[in-house]
Amino acid sequence: MKVTKHKKARKYMSFYMNNFGFREPLLVIVDGTFANAAYKIRLQIEDQLKKYFQCELKLIVTACIITETESIGGPLVPVCQLLKKFLVHKCGHEKRPISGMACIRAMTKTCNYIVATQDRDLQEWILSRAGIPLFYLHNNQVPTLVQPSDASVKAAAKKLHSRVHVREVDEKTLINLKRKEGLVSESQTQPKRRKKVKNPNPLSCKKSKKKKNVTSSHEIPGVQSQSIETRKRKRIKLPKHVIEQHFKAGGVEGTV
Ligand SMILES: [Zn+2]
Repeated sequence: MKVTKHKKARKYMSFYMNNFGFREPLLVIVDGTFANAAYKIRLQIEDQLKKYFQCELKLIVTACIITETESIGGPLVPVCQLLKKFLVHKCGHEKRPISGMACIRAMTKTCNYIVATQDRDLQEWILSRAGIPLFYLHNNQVPTLVQPSDASVKAAAKKLHSRVHVREVDEKTLINLKRKEGLVSESQTQPKRRKKVKNPNPLSCKKSKKKKNVTSSHEIPGVQSQSIETRKRKRIKLPKHVIEQHFKAGGVEGTV
């Protein structure tokens, strides 16, 4: 069971790494609800998460998350102490702290975080967004990285499509640049034109035949026959020695 879990975690994280730019060490932002659930089962968060993801990671909190947990007090005092052990990232709300959920929403817009939360509302919001991995304790017990949401999968497909389009555009601009620099000739860049030259329009050939017929009908029969004869003569290939003999015999005056 553990092996399949790790495989899934790796598979899901490689999806986020390939499509949304996640890098090691992974940054896991932990809210009060997750820290509370982990504290209840005495989960060694950092150790367990490193084993789960099988890579280096950092646990992150913000001043807003700590302040929110502190304000509840009572049973959450040890949870708050646990949170304070993590790295505190500046969120920009230090002077006027906001709710943990609102703070995490803002943080995920500017940086790639895995969000560890048991808050159902925050979980739903994360799944409606693209590129935010959701981590939680299933049944408040089992560490689980949620499969990438439909929103994430769709966004990844869009990105892939745009990458292919950019490649096509790059190729066109590259060809244009080469043309300007004289590195590529027109014939190299436009091979289709060659085909046109190879295959002349058959209709044009027919027209030329018709023209010949039309002109021949108007010509005098004698002149026409002469022109045909001259054509035939041109096609006859006489041996060199015959031509030489003919010219020696004074054939210059007459015709063959
Ligand atoms: Zn904040």
